[in-house]
Formats: sequence, C-alpha cells, structure tokens
Amino acid sequence: MALGEFDLIARYFKRPVKRAALGVGDDCALLRPTPGQQLAVSTDLLVEGRHFLSTVAPERLGHKALAVNLSDLAASGASPLAFTLSLSMPRAEERFLAPFAQGLLALADAHGIELVGGDTTGGPVLCIGITVMGEVPPGHALLRSGARVGDEIWVSGHLGDARLALEVFRGSLSLTGDAFDHVRRAMECPTPRVELGLALRGIASSAIDISDGLLGDLGHVLRASGVGAELDLAAFPRSAILAAQSDDWQRTCLLTGGDDYELLFTAPAERHEEVLLSAASAFTPVHCVGRVVAPERGLVVTQRGTPVDLAGLSAFDHFKS
Ligand code: ADP
Ligand code: MG
Repeated sequence: MALGEFDLIARYFKRPVKRAALGVGDDCALLRPTPGQQLAVSTDLLVEGRHFLSTVAPERLGHKALAVNLSDLAASGASPLAFTLSLSMPRAEERFLAPFAQGLLALADAHGIELVGGDTTGGPVLCIGITVMGEVPPGHALLRSGARVGDEIWVSGHLGDARLALEVFRGSLSLTGDAFDHVRRAMECPTPRVELGLALRGIASSAIDISDGLLGDLGHVLRASGVGAELDLAAFPRSAILAAQSDDWQRTCLLTGGDDYELLFTAPAERHEEVLLSAASAFTPVHCVGRVVAPERGLVVTQRGTPVDLAGLSAFDHFKS
C-alpha cells in the first residue's frame, strides 16, 4: 500500500518525546541540551548501490543507517542525544517502512537517542540521511589531532568481516552457511562503539571510527596529528572466518576493508592498563596493534618483523569504487 507523506511520518516516525521539549510535527524540534555541555553533531548519507545493496533487509538497513552515525559520536566520545532522518525513496511502501523504522528505532532506544525530525520526499533511489547530535563536556571530545609519538595504537573488535561479505556479493570469494551469515551480519548490522568512546574520554589521545578501511582512516589521524605509525599486522585480531582466507585477502580485509565501524584510537603507552580496564567496563574487546612514531617514518606495516608491501592497497573512496 502506498502512503501519503504525512501519514507515513505519523505512523512510523512520530513518537512521544522523551528528553526533547518538542519532537516530530512542527517546523523545528526543540531540544534541551544539558547546560555546560558541548553539542557534537555529525551527518552521514547512505545511498542505495553506493553504501548498501538492495538485497539488505529493511530492518537491518534501519539499524545500519543509525549505527554509522552513532559510530561518529562514539569516535568523538560524545553521548547520544537526538537525531533527524531525511528519506528520499522511489515508493512509500509499508512493507519497507515498517521494518525499516523498527530496526532504526530499536537501536535508537538501545542508546537513549530520540528521533526529533526530518524530511521525506520521493526520489529516484533510496537515500537515507541522518544527522546525530550528542553531548560532550568541553575539552573532553576525542579528536583526530591528539596522537603523540610513543603512543600506542589500538583497535576495537575485529576488522575485515564486512569486506569479506562484500567480496562474496561481488563474486570474488565464496562462503556459505553460518560463515556467510556471520560476515553478512558484520556488514549489515554493525555495532557502534558508543560505550567505548565514552570510557576512553580522558584516556585516549586521539580517535576515529573505521568506516573506509584502517589505512585510510589511520591516515587521517596521522595527518591531523603530524605523526607516523608502525603497525604489526600479526597483532590484528580477526575472525576465524577471515583467518581461514589467503594471506592476501586477510591483508586486504584488515587494512582496507571498509564498513568496520570499529574505533581506532591512540593512548599514551603508560596508560595501557587503563585502556584495558576502560574497554572492559564498556564490554568491548580492544587490541594494541602498533605505535605512533616520528612523522618522517611515515606509515610502516610489518608482519612478525617483515615489512608488508602496501602498494596497491588503498582506502575505500565512494567516488572511485
Ligand atoms: P516542513 O514543511 O517544515 O519541511 P515537513 O512537512 O517536511 O516540514 O515535515 C513535517 C514534520 O515531520 C516536521 O516536524 C519534520 O521534522 C517531520 N519529519 C518529516 N520527515 C520525517 C522523517 N523521515 N522522520 C522524522 N520526522 C520527519
Ligand atoms: Mg520538509
């Protein structure tokens, strides 16, 4: 059944307000920011065929659209407050909108973030734009620019499974049964590391979320901080499914995977134990994978002492892929 614009907003996206003073339905939403906090704002746009495949279940797409935005709040160490949703779609169909809203709002509820407004329009392909707002005490946001020589480099969770799933869809790899379900879930249903970001405030010297592959995103931190890095590929945690692939695929998926939504962060080496404790308090596994070095050294990746050739490995670029 096709729905009118206002019917569909009322049915799927308008809910009683919680923290906001005014939510969906008027010209503006009205928020109640906590006095004295800074507002952290981030936007991500997902376009069908570019950022997701048409084969994804609507419920997972709703989850992912918000998850990738929450991941940016996590990387800043911000606590989620509210978000807006802009939708452009060829058709307004209940069988898409109902599960999409369910996946989206379930993740919103899990993080205590509320949908306060948006825009809805017809358009040639499905596009989902979300803007998230969060809060962080002044001076406590995690930035890309704070890495210092001697810091340790850490990653949360494990990397590369989402890329494995993409390669299965592309036909370059084959996985079946539980293994395919697992990597597909990693690609379609990422877990934003919000609690870890909060736990790392005051401990991490820099942070970024890994959305376009580790090398590219680490590159942003290195440039912003004016430093270099040494990584040990053998120290990267990986799923048993990735570990069963060839060395080439492991290297590609770990270093340039894309769609991981794990946090990459640096912290002073003397705070190693504190990092482990704060990650445990956030129930999030973390692994130390390298060290920040002087800028002249650039970026060096070794595997048990042997240099890894980085030629041909490049970050995911949505204008080039
Ligand atoms: P305007 O005419 O001011 O652009 P709209 O008619 O587009 O407002 O939207 C009406 C109300 O519904 C507004 O409060 C808007 O924020 C909200 N809204 C529109 N689309 C969405 C959506 N996809 N999710 C949540 N709220 C939405
Ligand atoms: Mg509008």
